[in-house]
Amino acid sequence: MSAGPEEIAAAIARLKSGGVVAFPTETVYGLGADAFDPKAVARVFELKGRPANNPLIVHVSGAAMAREVVSEWPSAADSLAEAFWPGPLSIVLPKSARVPSIVTAGGANVAVRCPEHPLTLALIETLGTPLVGPSANPSGRTSPTSAEHVRASFSDHDVLVLDGGVCRRGIESTVLRLLPSPMILRPGVIGATAIERVIGASVSRFGADERAASEPLVSPGLLEQHYAPRTPAYLVAEHETEAALARVPGPVAVVTATSIQVRGPHVVEPMPPDAEGYAAALYAALRRADARGAGTILVVAPDTASGDPAIWDAIMDRLSRAAKRWKA
Ligand code: AMP
Ligand code: MG
Repeated sequence: MSAGPEEIAAAIARLKSGGVVAFPTETVYGLGADAFDPKAVARVFELKGRPANNPLIVHVSGAAMAREVVSEWPSAADSLAEAFWPGPLSIVLPKSARVPSIVTAGGANVAVRCPEHPLTLALIETLGTPLVGPSANPSGRTSPTSAEHVRASFSDHDVLVLDGGVCRRGIESTVLRLLPSPMILRPGVIGATAIERVIGASVSRFGADERAASEPLVSPGLLEQHYAPRTPAYLVAEHETEAALARVPGPVAVVTATSIQVRGPHVVEPMPPDAEGYAAALYAALRRADARGAGTILVVAPDTASGDPAIWDAIMDRLSRAAKRWKA
């Protein structure tokens, strides 16, 4: 199941020679390559079919390595690294000269984070070099939360997959720009309130107006359609579910909110009711629903009233990009 010393050694050899290795993190699996090797990074873009204007997150083993990647390291970054690393927070800062421009899609800033997974931390530490690590899926599609998901996409390619089990968090990191003022570019399980508590400054949230104007993309996760299954998917409010089921020809794959029951020939993916559990289960449920050969996937909007609002916010952000809003 979990990769051992031999696989880690093979992964290091692969990365040193400019190859690509998929690695586990607590969020989703990453498609890794030496961040300082522009050719290796180019291969990652090619494998994903990722647009060149979509920058990559650089994965480091800690704050010391992060300082090699950025040209400024404000005290707020230090506090955030201390509080949240290793963990699901990517910090955007001006890049250092060592980071090739392909990594940042030509931009002046780089996103950096320290992932919380023992295998990957060991990998980066032993290699002594940061790794780019976009989600290990074809561009725009559902992110992988298991080694199996990665193999399903890249088995025909020369990608070594380090199996580190199922991702504990299940959705991508919070992306936080620090300068000139703190702003969340992509929501994740670490929310504005938790960040504000650590840095003692208010944190804004990237909105629709800035989204329309951002070029090159401030954040790839901001693309309107992203994280999407191949099967047409719709996000429905719970009270619309029966009507939606009657409208689309069956069978339909339904990702339920736990409180609803779906009858008939439909494929049902029941979801955990709590925010952490829902986030961790979401992408695997979308993938299973996608694999059922249904004509439509209906995702019933979860009840976000209790639990951590930051996590529900991140979940709703991903759902709104993976599925179109149902219009009766
Ligand atoms: P993915 O590679 O699909 O996991 O998504 C990568 C994420 O990294 C995007 O959603 C962006 O939010 C973020 N990102 C990477 N580099 C930058 C950057 N230089 N500036 C802003 N956001 C970035
Ligand atoms: Mg992605």
